Amino acid sequence: MATTKDGDRSFRRLLRVKPGSKVDLAGFDYAETFGREKKRAEADVADVLDRLADLQARLWAEATHAVLVVLQGIDAAGKDGTIRVIAGAFNPQGCPVTSFKVPTPLELAHDYLWRVHQHVPGKGEIGIFNRSHYEDVLVVRVHGLVPEERWRRRYGHIRHFEEMLVDEGVTIVKFFLAIDKEEQRRRFQDRVDDPTKRWKFRLGDIEERKRWDDYRAAFEDALSETSTDEAPWYLVPADRNWLRNLAIAEILADTLDDLDPQYPPAEEGVEGTTVD
Ligand code: AMP
Ligand code: MG
Repeated sequence: MATTKDGDRSFRRLLRVKPGSKVDLAGFDYAETFGREKKRAEADVADVLDRLADLQARLWAEATHAVLVVLQGIDAAGKDGTIRVIAGAFNPQGCPVTSFKVPTPLELAHDYLWRVHQHVPGKGEIGIFNRSHYEDVLVVRVHGLVPEERWRRRYGHIRHFEEMLVDEGVTIVKFFLAIDKEEQRRRFQDRVDDPTKRWKFRLGDIEERKRWDDYRAAFEDALSETSTDEAPWYLVPADRNWLRNLAIAEILADTLDDLDPQYPPAEEGVEGTTVD
């Protein structure tokens, strides 16, 4: 059972943050498996990635729909690993990935959506945001980089910004990768201990980790405030990489399926033409 498009067990139903609901991460099971098994997951993911490859080829050829995938999560939640797996299914030409870092002076001289808007994918593209405009209600809130009355208004801006994109033909899917504090500790330790991962780790990561509860509150509010019917958040238990990959791949494939992308018809007279 690789896909469950509309069944009760579809990840789209299980993980979608209901618009208007209050997200509470306190009781969240970060290692939930929903009855799926790791042994089977590898084959299941491979099947879904095949589906994704076919859907993207059509979407690219049709050049009608733009799809924006937003990935958020605390440090070491698995954003990079997710991109490696999901984008691995796609033709890179149609899959721009944008990583949002600490804003440059030029970016800071503008409104916070300025740097984001220009990277929204165009028709035919599936664009992936590794972090996003949500940083402006997450790290910015936790560090008090702007006063509260400014970041609080941003939830409304973001809802409207995304609504505008949807109205203009962009399909938006947002994934929050949720890991446990102990899982982050293990992953950080692994980064320190593994010479091939050490470059990823900064001493500042330990300082950020001390603000775990502040980040949790900021994540809860961001998800509660901005999950809409048009641009839903999916809250993904991400302690287990295999479950995370399977869930995200399935949700994305089901979302693309709904767009029903088709290869464009051939030019009149092409069919049956013999090329000398
Ligand atoms: P990484 O994802 O590990 O490459 O780190 C990127 C860093 O940029 C993270 O620490 C983010 O919190 C930070 N960052 C991204 N966007 C913003 C923003 N709008 N304001 C401040 N810091 C940001
Ligand atoms: Mg980092």
